[in-house]
Amino acid sequence: MKRAAAFLLIFILALAGCSNSSSQGSGKAGETAGTAETGGAGEPAAEETQSAVTLVPEQDPEAALGDTIYISSMDTEMALTAYGSHRTEALAAARDEVLRLNDLFSVGVETSDISRANTEGSVVLAPETELLVRDSLDLYEATGGLFDITVYPLMDLWGFTTQNFKVPSESELAAALALVGSDRLSFSENDHTLTLDKGQAIDLGAIAKGYTSARIMDIFREHGVQSAMVSLGGNIQCLGTKPDGSAWRIGIQDPVSGRGETVAKLHITDLAVITSGSYERYFTDKETGETYHHIIDPRTGKSARSGLTSVTIVSRDGALADGLSTSLFIMGIDEAFRFWKSGVYDFEALFIDEGGHIYITPGLSGMIYDTPGVTVLE
Ligand code: ADP
Ligand code: MG
Repeated sequence: MKRAAAFLLIFILALAGCSNSSSQGSGKAGETAGTAETGGAGEPAAEETQSAVTLVPEQDPEAALGDTIYISSMDTEMALTAYGSHRTEALAAARDEVLRLNDLFSVGVETSDISRANTEGSVVLAPETELLVRDSLDLYEATGGLFDITVYPLMDLWGFTTQNFKVPSESELAAALALVGSDRLSFSENDHTLTLDKGQAIDLGAIAKGYTSARIMDIFREHGVQSAMVSLGGNIQCLGTKPDGSAWRIGIQDPVSGRGETVAKLHITDLAVITSGSYERYFTDKETGETYHHIIDPRTGKSARSGLTSVTIVSRDGALADGLSTSLFIMGIDEAFRFWKSGVYDFEALFIDEGGHIYITPGLSGMIYDTPGVTVLE
């Protein structure tokens, strides 16, 4: 008798969870980001008894309830959505973590590890900063120097750090370029000290948000959240599935029409989806009409011109996805696809070229939907 009653109760809870997910939960998920599509209605439980049985150990009466918080940090707008009965504590902890990491990484915070490295030339790094600097040095090696956190003097020269944009002279460019090169950074593992060469300055802007979204996923998991999605300035990372068990639907933004319009759609579960685009931060030189954006090719000191307008990386590893989105944008499609084939890192990619054509690596074939005219690279 007891067992039957317990079974019935669990069954009712399971159904309640499913019906809520289509009304409240997924509606909120749609609000989290410009690139995250509003979720549709959840599939009703197909095999009622089966779902009741499998949900026994983990059933959460609030599984379908979600909340979203908004944070302005790391020079961008963030939206964090979490579902389930632990969502409130999890979101509060995530907010604390974002602010803590911002204080460690940001060039805009005077006391951050990175600002201190830039002003003092040598600094003992906190464990997380050390991790990101090491990842960045690995990427520098793996990308033949295209991913280079020492491009900061160039960012400054072009005015991307102050919004006082200007096209520098060739001699100014040469002087700033002379300071660039991660091979001249030295890191001592024994005392966790990073030392810059004279005049050098670093910036983790191409990798920090991806690391942060990955950390948020860890915090959500530690708090018992099983379903969540965050958008850090359009960089998305998802935990699990939507509360109704279906995949998250992520829209890739049209690089030409600007914010909001979607040109490709992906079904995503438990992955980071991180885009670098030439449309995100740029200015137009009034005299020549030429446009300059914030992804710098360390070989030229100028905005990368590779024929691409947007590169999206899909990976389990948020920091890697972020670092690679910047790197592959600079490479251009041919070199980027060779890099993917080399298998050094585990990821998939979606490219949009200047003609608006979309290309994907084969691993995205099963995730892309509602996207006409895609070329699968082979
Ligand atoms: P966003 O920050 O807009 O999401 P990215 O992830 O592509 O875009 O990072 C761009 C930022 O990375 C720039 O604002 C700059 O701080 C830094 N950056 C620019 N060029 C490079 C490069 N070649 N290697 C590493 N970091 C770079
Ligand atoms: Mg990046």
